[in-house]
Amino acid sequence: MDRNRRVLDADVLVVAGRIKSVGPSGRGTGGGVNPAIIDCHGLVVLPGLVQTHIHLCQTLFRGLADDLSLEDWLAQRIWPLEAAHTEDSIYASAMLGAAELLLGGTTAILDMETVRHTGAAFEALEEIGIRATAGKCLMDAPSSPEGLRESTDSALSESAGLCARWHGAAGGRLRYCFAPRFVPSCTGPLLRAVSDLAEKVGAVVHTHAAETPVELEMVKRETGHDEIAYLDSVGISGPRTALAHCVWVDKDGIERLARQATNVVHCPSSNLKLGSGIAPIPEMLAAGCRVGIGADGAPCNNRLDAFAEMRLAALIQKPRLGPDALPAAQVLELATLGGARAMGLENEIGSIEVGKRADLVVLDLERPHTQPEDTDLMSRIVYSSMATDVRHVIVDGRVVVKDGELKTADLREIRQGANSQARRLRRSAGL
Ligand SMILES: [Zn+2]
Repeated sequence: MDRNRRVLDADVLVVAGRIKSVGPSGRGTGGGVNPAIIDCHGLVVLPGLVQTHIHLCQTLFRGLADDLSLEDWLAQRIWPLEAAHTEDSIYASAMLGAAELLLGGTTAILDMETVRHTGAAFEALEEIGIRATAGKCLMDAPSSPEGLRESTDSALSESAGLCARWHGAAGGRLRYCFAPRFVPSCTGPLLRAVSDLAEKVGAVVHTHAAETPVELEMVKRETGHDEIAYLDSVGISGPRTALAHCVWVDKDGIERLARQATNVVHCPSSNLKLGSGIAPIPEMLAAGCRVGIGADGAPCNNRLDAFAEMRLAALIQKPRLGPDALPAAQVLELATLGGARAMGLENEIGSIEVGKRADLVVLDLERPHTQPEDTDLMSRIVYSSMATDVRHVIVDGRVVVKDGELKTADLREIRQGANSQARRLRRSAGL
Protein backbone atom coordinates (compact mmCIF):
# COMPACT_ATOMS: atom_id res chain seq x y z
CA MET A 1 0.00 0.00 0.00
CA ASP A 2 2.88 2.38 -0.65
CA ARG A 3 2.42 5.24 -3.12
CA ASN A 4 2.93 2.93 -6.11
CA ARG A 5 0.97 0.01 -4.61
CA ARG A 6 3.92 -2.30 -5.21
CA VAL A 7 3.80 -6.05 -4.50
CA LEU A 8 7.34 -7.09 -3.53
CA ASP A 9 9.28 -10.22 -2.77
CA ALA A 10 11.05 -8.70 0.20
CA ASP A 11 12.15 -8.88 3.83
CA VAL A 12 10.77 -6.38 6.33
CA LEU A 13 13.13 -5.26 9.09
CA VAL A 14 11.49 -3.95 12.24
CA VAL A 15 13.49 -2.04 14.83
CA ALA A 16 12.03 -0.48 17.98
CA GLY A 17 8.46 -0.78 16.77
CA ARG A 18 9.04 0.82 13.37
CA ILE A 19 9.75 -0.46 9.88
CA LYS A 20 13.46 0.15 9.37
CA SER A 21 13.81 -1.27 5.88
CA VAL A 22 12.02 -3.20 3.16
CA GLY A 23 14.59 -5.04 1.06
CA PRO A 24 15.06 -7.87 -1.40
CA SER A 25 14.11 -11.26 -0.04
CA GLY A 26 16.79 -13.59 1.27
CA ARG A 27 19.59 -11.02 1.33
CA GLY A 28 18.91 -9.87 4.86
CA THR A 29 17.96 -6.34 5.60
CA GLY A 30 21.27 -5.20 6.88
CA GLY A 31 20.43 -4.15 10.42
CA GLY A 32 20.13 -5.36 13.96
CA VAL A 33 22.21 -7.72 16.03
CA ASN A 34 20.67 -11.19 16.43
CA PRO A 35 17.33 -10.24 14.94
CA ALA A 36 14.32 -12.43 15.68
CA ILE A 37 13.34 -13.86 12.32
CA ILE A 38 9.80 -14.81 11.33
CA ASP A 39 10.05 -16.94 8.21
CA CYS A 40 7.32 -15.82 5.83
CA HIS A 41 8.24 -17.91 2.79
CA GLY A 42 5.10 -18.68 0.84
CA LEU A 43 3.08 -16.27 2.99
CA VAL A 44 1.81 -12.77 2.31
CA VAL A 45 2.76 -9.83 4.54
CA LEU A 46 0.26 -7.01 4.41
CA PRO A 47 -0.30 -3.83 6.40
CA GLY A 48 -2.39 -4.44 9.54
CA LEU A 49 -6.08 -4.02 8.80
CA VAL A 50 -7.80 -1.00 10.30
CA GLN A 51 -11.46 -0.93 11.38
CA THR A 52 -12.71 2.52 12.17
CA HIS A 53 -16.10 1.78 13.66
CA ILE A 54 -16.26 -0.78 16.49
CA HIS A 55 -18.15 -0.96 19.81
CA LEU A 56 -16.10 -3.28 22.02
CA CYS A 57 -18.59 -2.72 24.87
CA GLN A 58 -21.20 -4.57 22.79
CA THR A 59 -19.19 -7.74 22.16
CA LEU A 60 -20.98 -9.50 25.04
CA PHE A 61 -24.34 -8.71 23.39
CA ARG A 62 -23.59 -10.88 20.37
CA GLY A 63 -26.66 -12.93 19.47
CA LEU A 64 -28.92 -10.98 21.85
CA ALA A 65 -30.38 -8.50 19.35
CA ASP A 66 -30.93 -10.21 16.02
CA ASP A 67 -33.43 -9.31 13.33
CA LEU A 68 -34.54 -5.92 14.64
CA SER A 69 -34.65 -2.44 13.09
CA LEU A 70 -32.07 0.06 14.38
CA GLU A 71 -34.61 1.85 16.57
CA ASP A 72 -35.92 -1.35 18.26
CA TRP A 73 -32.42 -2.81 18.38
CA LEU A 74 -31.27 0.21 20.39
CA ALA A 75 -34.28 0.77 22.65
CA GLN A 76 -35.17 -2.86 23.43
CA ARG A 77 -31.74 -4.45 23.69
CA ILE A 78 -28.61 -2.35 23.36
CA TRP A 79 -29.42 0.55 25.68
CA PRO A 80 -30.68 -1.65 28.57
CA LEU A 81 -27.64 -3.92 28.18
CA GLU A 82 -25.20 -0.98 28.03
CA ALA A 83 -26.82 0.53 31.13
CA ALA A 84 -26.24 -2.77 32.98
CA HIS A 85 -22.47 -2.76 32.34
CA THR A 86 -19.98 -2.76 35.22
CA GLU A 87 -16.22 -2.27 35.08
CA ASP A 88 -15.75 -6.04 35.02
CA SER A 89 -18.18 -6.60 32.14
CA ILE A 90 -16.67 -3.74 30.09
CA TYR A 91 -13.22 -5.26 30.58
CA ALA A 92 -14.45 -8.75 29.60
CA SER A 93 -16.27 -7.38 26.56
CA ALA A 94 -13.20 -5.46 25.35
CA MET A 95 -10.91 -8.47 25.82
CA LEU A 96 -13.23 -10.76 23.86
CA GLY A 97 -13.66 -8.26 21.02
CA ALA A 98 -10.00 -7.33 20.82
CA ALA A 99 -8.96 -11.00 20.82
CA GLU A 100 -11.29 -11.67 17.89
CA LEU A 101 -9.98 -8.61 16.05
CA LEU A 102 -6.29 -9.41 16.51
CA LEU A 103 -6.70 -13.08 15.57
CA GLY A 104 -8.48 -11.92 12.40
CA GLY A 105 -5.75 -9.49 11.33
CA THR A 106 -7.21 -6.20 12.57
CA THR A 107 -4.37 -4.29 14.20
CA ALA A 108 -6.03 -0.91 14.78
CA ILE A 109 -9.54 0.20 15.70
CA LEU A 110 -11.59 3.32 16.28
CA ASP A 111 -13.87 2.29 19.13
CA MET A 112 -16.97 3.76 20.78
CA GLU A 113 -17.55 2.54 24.33
CA THR A 114 -20.68 3.10 26.42
CA VAL A 115 -21.34 6.00 28.81
CA ARG A 116 -19.68 4.52 31.91
CA HIS A 117 -16.52 2.51 32.80
CA THR A 118 -14.49 3.44 29.68
CA GLY A 119 -11.29 3.30 31.77
CA ALA A 120 -11.80 -0.49 32.12
CA ALA A 121 -11.87 -0.84 28.32
CA PHE A 122 -8.59 1.06 28.03
CA GLU A 123 -7.01 -1.26 30.61
CA ALA A 124 -7.99 -4.24 28.45
CA LEU A 125 -6.68 -2.56 25.29
CA GLU A 126 -3.39 -1.74 26.99
CA GLU A 127 -2.98 -5.34 28.08
CA ILE A 128 -3.96 -7.15 24.87
CA GLY A 129 -1.77 -5.04 22.58
CA ILE A 130 -4.11 -3.79 19.83
CA ARG A 131 -3.75 -0.23 18.52
CA ALA A 132 -6.89 1.63 19.54
CA THR A 133 -8.46 5.03 19.65
CA ALA A 134 -11.45 4.76 21.98
CA GLY A 135 -13.90 7.10 23.63
CA LYS A 136 -16.69 7.25 26.14
CA CYS A 137 -20.13 7.52 24.51
CA LEU A 138 -21.87 10.86 25.09
CA MET A 139 -25.65 11.11 25.57
CA ASP A 140 -27.05 14.29 27.12
CA ALA A 141 -30.27 14.94 25.18
CA PRO A 142 -33.48 14.85 27.27
CA SER A 143 -34.84 12.11 25.00
CA SER A 144 -31.90 9.79 25.76
CA PRO A 145 -32.70 6.66 27.80
CA GLU A 146 -32.63 7.32 31.54
CA GLY A 147 -30.07 4.62 32.33
CA LEU A 148 -27.47 6.27 30.10
CA ARG A 149 -28.35 9.98 30.06
CA GLU A 150 -25.91 12.41 31.65
CA SER A 151 -25.72 16.15 32.15
CA THR A 152 -23.73 18.00 29.49
CA ASP A 153 -21.17 19.04 32.11
CA SER A 154 -20.52 15.59 33.50
CA ALA A 155 -20.32 14.07 30.00
CA LEU A 156 -17.67 16.63 29.05
CA SER A 157 -15.69 16.58 32.27
CA GLU A 158 -15.45 12.77 32.35
CA SER A 159 -14.34 12.81 28.70
CA ALA A 160 -11.65 15.37 29.44
CA GLY A 161 -10.40 13.25 32.37
CA LEU A 162 -10.24 10.08 30.26
CA CYS A 163 -8.49 11.99 27.50
CA ALA A 164 -5.86 13.29 29.93
CA ARG A 165 -5.25 9.76 31.22
CA TRP A 166 -5.28 7.74 27.96
CA HIS A 167 -4.56 9.97 24.95
CA GLY A 168 -1.06 8.86 23.88
CA ALA A 169 -0.79 6.05 26.47
CA ALA A 170 1.13 2.78 25.88
CA GLY A 171 3.81 4.57 23.86
CA GLY A 172 1.20 6.27 21.68
CA ARG A 173 -0.59 3.01 20.79
CA LEU A 174 -3.70 4.13 22.68
CA ARG A 175 -5.48 7.39 21.93
CA TYR A 176 -8.68 9.04 23.03
CA CYS A 177 -11.60 10.05 20.83
CA PHE A 178 -14.66 12.12 21.67
CA ALA A 179 -17.70 9.99 20.91
CA PRO A 180 -21.12 11.64 20.87
CA ARG A 181 -23.50 8.73 20.15
CA PHE A 182 -25.53 10.37 17.37
CA VAL A 183 -27.36 13.63 16.80
CA PRO A 184 -30.69 12.56 18.40
CA SER A 185 -28.93 11.69 21.69
CA CYS A 186 -26.84 14.88 21.95
CA THR A 187 -27.60 18.56 22.56
CA GLY A 188 -26.16 21.25 20.31
CA PRO A 189 -24.00 22.72 23.12
CA LEU A 190 -22.47 19.28 23.78
CA LEU A 191 -21.58 18.80 20.11
CA ARG A 192 -20.02 22.24 19.88
CA ALA A 193 -18.00 21.71 23.05
CA VAL A 194 -16.82 18.32 21.78
CA SER A 195 -15.62 19.86 18.54
CA ASP A 196 -13.61 22.49 20.48
CA LEU A 197 -12.13 19.98 22.93
CA ALA A 198 -11.08 17.60 20.16
CA GLU A 199 -9.46 20.44 18.24
CA LYS A 200 -7.56 21.58 21.32
CA VAL A 201 -6.01 18.19 22.10
CA GLY A 202 -5.73 16.84 18.53
CA ALA A 203 -8.24 14.03 19.06
CA VAL A 204 -10.68 12.38 16.68
CA VAL A 205 -14.47 12.88 16.95
CA HIS A 206 -16.22 9.55 16.39
CA THR A 207 -19.98 9.42 15.90
CA HIS A 208 -22.80 7.88 13.82
CA ALA A 209 -24.61 9.70 11.02
CA ALA A 210 -27.38 9.18 8.48
CA GLU A 211 -27.89 5.52 9.29
CA THR A 212 -31.68 5.32 8.72
CA PRO A 213 -34.45 7.50 7.25
CA VAL A 214 -36.10 7.60 10.72
CA GLU A 215 -32.95 9.19 12.18
CA LEU A 216 -32.80 11.66 9.30
CA GLU A 217 -36.38 12.76 9.93
CA MET A 218 -35.78 13.15 13.69
CA VAL A 219 -32.79 15.40 13.05
CA LYS A 220 -34.69 17.42 10.46
CA ARG A 221 -37.61 17.90 12.85
CA GLU A 222 -35.41 18.91 15.79
CA THR A 223 -32.81 21.05 14.05
CA GLY A 224 -34.45 22.05 10.77
CA HIS A 225 -31.35 20.82 8.93
CA ASP A 226 -30.19 17.91 6.89
CA GLU A 227 -28.06 15.77 9.24
CA ILE A 228 -24.65 16.14 7.55
CA ALA A 229 -25.19 19.91 7.25
CA TYR A 230 -26.26 20.13 10.90
CA LEU A 231 -23.17 18.22 12.08
CA ASP A 232 -21.02 20.56 10.00
CA SER A 233 -22.75 23.60 11.56
CA VAL A 234 -21.78 22.45 15.08
CA GLY A 235 -18.19 21.67 14.08
CA ILE A 236 -18.49 17.88 13.69
CA SER A 237 -16.81 17.69 10.27
CA GLY A 238 -13.37 17.71 8.69
CA PRO A 239 -10.36 15.38 8.69
CA ARG A 240 -10.54 14.90 12.46
CA THR A 241 -14.11 13.53 12.28
CA ALA A 242 -15.23 9.96 11.55
CA LEU A 243 -18.91 9.44 10.73
CA ALA A 244 -20.08 5.83 10.80
CA HIS A 245 -22.60 4.67 8.18
CA CYS A 246 -23.66 7.70 6.04
CA VAL A 247 -26.14 5.42 4.26
CA TRP A 248 -28.76 8.10 3.59
CA VAL A 249 -26.70 10.89 2.12
CA ASP A 250 -27.75 12.75 -1.01
CA LYS A 251 -25.58 14.48 -3.61
CA ASP A 252 -25.31 17.68 -1.55
CA GLY A 253 -24.31 15.68 1.52
CA ILE A 254 -21.66 13.76 -0.42
CA GLU A 255 -20.24 17.00 -1.81
CA ARG A 256 -20.11 18.50 1.66
CA LEU A 257 -18.35 15.41 3.09
CA ALA A 258 -15.79 15.55 0.29
CA ARG A 259 -15.25 19.32 0.59
CA GLN A 260 -14.66 19.12 4.35
CA ALA A 261 -12.50 15.95 4.07
CA THR A 262 -14.73 14.31 6.68
CA ASN A 263 -14.10 10.58 7.10
CA VAL A 264 -16.96 8.22 6.31
CA VAL A 265 -16.88 4.74 7.87
CA HIS A 266 -18.60 2.10 5.79
CA CYS A 267 -20.14 -0.80 7.79
CA PRO A 268 -21.71 -3.04 5.15
CA SER A 269 -22.64 -6.03 7.38
CA SER A 270 -24.28 -3.82 9.98
CA ASN A 271 -26.17 -1.82 7.35
CA LEU A 272 -27.51 -5.02 5.80
CA LYS A 273 -28.35 -6.83 9.03
CA LEU A 274 -30.28 -3.89 10.51
CA GLY A 275 -31.92 -3.35 7.12
CA SER A 276 -30.59 0.21 7.02
CA GLY A 277 -29.58 0.21 3.34
CA ILE A 278 -26.51 0.40 1.13
CA ALA A 279 -24.21 3.39 1.53
CA PRO A 280 -23.29 5.08 -1.78
CA ILE A 281 -19.57 4.40 -1.31
CA PRO A 282 -18.50 4.40 -4.99
CA GLU A 283 -20.25 7.76 -5.44
CA MET A 284 -18.47 9.08 -2.35
CA LEU A 285 -15.07 7.88 -3.56
CA ALA A 286 -15.72 9.41 -6.98
CA ALA A 287 -16.50 12.71 -5.26
CA GLY A 288 -13.21 12.51 -3.33
CA CYS A 289 -14.53 11.44 0.08
CA ARG A 290 -12.28 9.76 2.63
CA VAL A 291 -13.64 6.29 3.47
CA GLY A 292 -12.72 3.58 5.98
CA ILE A 293 -14.51 0.37 6.94
CA GLY A 294 -15.74 -1.18 10.19
CA ALA A 295 -17.69 -4.12 11.56
CA ASP A 296 -19.65 -1.92 14.04
CA GLY A 297 -20.71 -3.87 17.18
CA ALA A 298 -21.03 -7.64 17.58
CA PRO A 299 -24.85 -7.56 18.00
CA CYS A 300 -25.43 -6.05 14.54
CA ASN A 301 -22.96 -8.07 12.48
CA ASN A 302 -22.34 -10.62 14.29
CA ARG A 303 -18.60 -10.85 13.63
CA LEU A 304 -15.75 -8.35 13.97
CA ASP A 305 -14.08 -9.62 10.82
CA ALA A 306 -12.29 -7.22 8.47
CA PHE A 307 -12.16 -9.83 5.69
CA ALA A 308 -15.94 -10.26 5.79
CA GLU A 309 -16.39 -6.46 5.65
CA MET A 310 -13.97 -6.09 2.71
CA ARG A 311 -15.64 -8.80 0.67
CA LEU A 312 -19.12 -7.50 1.40
CA ALA A 313 -18.15 -3.88 0.74
CA ALA A 314 -17.15 -4.89 -2.78
CA LEU A 315 -20.07 -7.22 -3.45
CA ILE A 316 -23.04 -5.12 -2.29
CA GLN A 317 -22.34 -2.32 -4.76
CA LYS A 318 -22.33 -4.56 -7.82
CA PRO A 319 -26.07 -5.28 -8.24
CA ARG A 320 -26.68 -1.52 -8.03
CA LEU A 321 -23.81 -0.17 -10.15
CA GLY A 322 -22.41 -3.10 -12.12
CA PRO A 323 -19.66 -5.68 -11.51
CA ASP A 324 -16.82 -3.20 -11.97
CA ALA A 325 -17.92 -1.09 -8.96
CA LEU A 326 -15.49 -1.06 -6.01
CA PRO A 327 -12.78 -3.50 -7.17
CA ALA A 328 -10.66 -5.49 -4.73
CA ALA A 329 -7.62 -3.19 -4.70
CA GLN A 330 -9.76 -0.20 -3.83
CA VAL A 331 -11.42 -2.10 -0.97
CA LEU A 332 -8.06 -3.11 0.50
CA GLU A 333 -7.11 0.56 0.45
CA LEU A 334 -10.23 1.42 2.49
CA ALA A 335 -9.29 -1.24 5.07
CA THR A 336 -5.71 0.02 5.43
CA LEU A 337 -4.89 3.60 4.36
CA GLY A 338 -8.54 4.69 4.52
CA GLY A 339 -8.73 3.57 8.13
CA ALA A 340 -5.36 5.12 8.95
CA ARG A 341 -6.63 8.48 7.65
CA ALA A 342 -9.85 8.23 9.67
CA MET A 343 -7.76 7.71 12.80
CA GLY A 344 -5.49 10.63 11.89
CA LEU A 345 -2.60 8.15 11.68
CA GLU A 346 -1.88 8.09 7.93
CA ASN A 347 1.77 8.95 8.57
CA GLU A 348 2.10 6.13 11.11
CA ILE A 349 0.17 3.09 9.83
CA GLY A 350 -1.79 1.77 6.82
CA SER A 351 1.12 0.72 4.59
CA ILE A 352 4.42 -1.16 4.76
CA GLU A 353 6.84 1.74 4.37
CA VAL A 354 10.09 2.71 6.01
CA GLY A 355 9.47 4.88 9.06
CA LYS A 356 5.94 3.73 9.76
CA ARG A 357 4.90 1.80 12.87
CA ALA A 358 5.29 -1.95 12.39
CA ASP A 359 1.64 -3.07 12.30
CA LEU A 360 1.74 -6.15 10.06
CA VAL A 361 -0.38 -9.17 9.22
CA VAL A 362 0.99 -12.39 7.77
CA LEU A 363 -1.54 -14.32 5.73
CA ASP A 364 -1.43 -17.96 4.67
CA LEU A 365 -2.88 -18.24 1.17
CA GLU A 366 -2.00 -21.90 0.67
CA ARG A 367 -5.35 -23.45 1.58
CA PRO A 368 -7.65 -24.57 -1.24
CA HIS A 369 -10.01 -21.57 -1.10
CA THR A 370 -7.21 -19.14 -2.02
CA GLN A 371 -5.59 -21.26 -4.75
CA PRO A 372 -4.37 -21.27 -7.50
CA GLU A 373 -1.59 -18.87 -6.66
CA ASP A 374 -0.71 -17.16 -9.94
CA THR A 375 -3.65 -14.78 -9.88
CA ASP A 376 -4.17 -11.23 -8.73
CA LEU A 377 -3.07 -10.95 -5.10
CA MET A 378 -5.61 -8.23 -4.27
CA SER A 379 -8.37 -10.53 -5.49
CA ARG A 380 -7.08 -13.41 -3.36
CA ILE A 381 -6.95 -11.19 -0.26
CA VAL A 382 -10.30 -9.41 -0.66
CA TYR A 383 -12.52 -11.98 -2.36
CA SER A 384 -11.06 -15.32 -1.20
CA SER A 385 -9.30 -14.91 2.16
CA MET A 386 -10.89 -15.40 5.54
CA ALA A 387 -9.95 -14.22 9.02
CA THR A 388 -8.84 -17.76 9.82
CA ASP A 389 -6.10 -17.46 7.19
CA VAL A 390 -4.21 -15.03 9.44
CA ARG A 391 -1.02 -16.70 10.66
CA HIS A 392 0.92 -13.93 12.51
CA VAL A 393 0.05 -10.42 13.68
CA ILE A 394 2.44 -7.69 14.77
CA VAL A 395 1.39 -4.42 16.41
CA ASP A 396 3.96 -1.72 17.15
CA GLY A 397 6.68 -4.29 16.45
CA ARG A 398 5.32 -6.73 19.05
CA VAL A 399 4.20 -10.19 17.95
CA VAL A 400 0.65 -10.44 19.33
CA VAL A 401 -0.48 -13.46 17.29
CA LYS A 402 1.95 -16.25 16.35
CA ASP A 403 0.93 -19.29 14.31
CA GLY A 404 -2.72 -18.38 14.78
CA GLU A 405 -2.45 -18.12 18.58
CA LEU A 406 -2.95 -15.05 20.71
CA LYS A 407 0.28 -14.39 22.64
CA THR A 408 -0.76 -11.47 24.85
CA ALA A 409 -3.62 -13.03 26.81
CA ASP A 410 -5.11 -16.42 27.66
CA LEU A 411 -8.02 -17.16 25.32
CA ARG A 412 -9.62 -19.60 27.75
CA GLU A 413 -9.67 -16.99 30.50
CA ILE A 414 -11.10 -14.43 28.08
CA ARG A 415 -13.89 -16.82 27.11
CA GLN A 416 -14.71 -17.73 30.72
CA GLY A 417 -14.78 -14.08 31.79
CA ALA A 418 -16.93 -13.13 28.80
CA ASN A 419 -19.47 -15.88 29.41
CA SER A 420 -19.93 -15.22 33.10
CA GLN A 421 -20.22 -11.45 32.54
CA ALA A 422 -22.64 -11.94 29.63
CA ARG A 423 -24.92 -14.07 31.84
CA ARG A 424 -24.92 -11.43 34.55
CA LEU A 425 -25.63 -8.66 32.04
CA ARG A 426 -28.60 -10.50 30.57
CA ARG A 427 -30.13 -11.08 34.01
CA SER A 428 -29.50 -7.52 35.04
CA ALA A 429 -31.06 -6.11 31.84
CA GLY A 430 -34.03 -8.49 32.17
CA LEU A 431 -33.36 -10.22 28.82
ZN1 LIG B 1 -22.12 1.86 15.69
